[in-house]
Amino acid sequence: MKTIGLIGGMSWESSAVYYNLINRKVKEVLGGFHSCKSIMVTVDFAEIEKLQHLGEWGKLDKIMADSALQLEIAGADIVVLCTNTMHLCTPAILKSISIPFLHIAEATGLEIKNRGLKKVALLGTKFTMEKDFYKKYINDNFEIEVIIPTEEERNQIHNIIYGELVKGVIKDESREVYKQIISNLEHQGAQGVILGCTEIPLLISKDDVNIKVFDTTTIHAHKAVEWALQD
Ligand code: GLU
Repeated sequence: MKTIGLIGGMSWESSAVYYNLINRKVKEVLGGFHSCKSIMVTVDFAEIEKLQHLGEWGKLDKIMADSALQLEIAGADIVVLCTNTMHLCTPAILKSISIPFLHIAEATGLEIKNRGLKKVALLGTKFTMEKDFYKKYINDNFEIEVIIPTEEERNQIHNIIYGELVKGVIKDESREVYKQIISNLEHQGAQGVILGCTEIPLLISKDDVNIKVFDTTTIHAHKAVEWALQD
C-alpha cells in the first residue's frame, strides 16, 4: 500500500470525513486489521479564509505549495488536497513537488463520464462556481457541460458554506435552500449535480434530490485509495 498525503483543515469538518472515508475503504477492500497509510498536514483555516476573501491568491499558492512539499518530505507517495476551492493553487503545487497530485476535478469528471452524463450543475464556493479552473477542467477533459446557479443563488450557497458548514453547523432551512436551487438547475437540463465543496455532503445527500449527486469528498477519497492500493 502506498501512503496518501492529505492537505487538510479547509475545513477540518470535511478533512475528518476524508480520514474516515480512506480508512473505511481500505478496511472494506483489504479486510482484517487493515487501515490506510496516510499523512495529513493541517493548515489554519482562519488564515486561508481571510486570504481567499482578500484575493491574495499568491500567498495562498505559497501555503499550498509548502504544505504539499511537507507531505513529500514526510514520505507521502501522492498529494490529495481536501478542498475543491484550493485547487485554484494547482499550478503552484505541481511546481513544488515531484510526487503525483490527484486533482479533485479529475476524479469527479471521470465519475460523471463513467455514468454517461453530458450536462451537470456545479455547487461550491463562489470561487469554485465563478472562476474557470473547475468548470473548464471538466469541460475540456471530459466534454461535459457544467452550469452554475444565478448570482443570487451563488451568494446564498457561498454564505451557507462559510457561515455554517465549515463551522459544522447544519440547518434544515439551509438544506431547503440548496434543494430549491438544485431543482431550478434540474429544470435547466442538469442531469446531475456536483457537490463541489467538500462540506456540502454534510448537508445534502442523494435522497434530497431527483438528479444524480456527485459527492466530491467521497469520490476524491475513494480515488486516492484506489491509487494507493494499485501495484
Ligand atoms: N471545503 C470547501 C471546498 O471544497 C470550502 C472551503 C475552502 O475554501 O477551502 O471548496
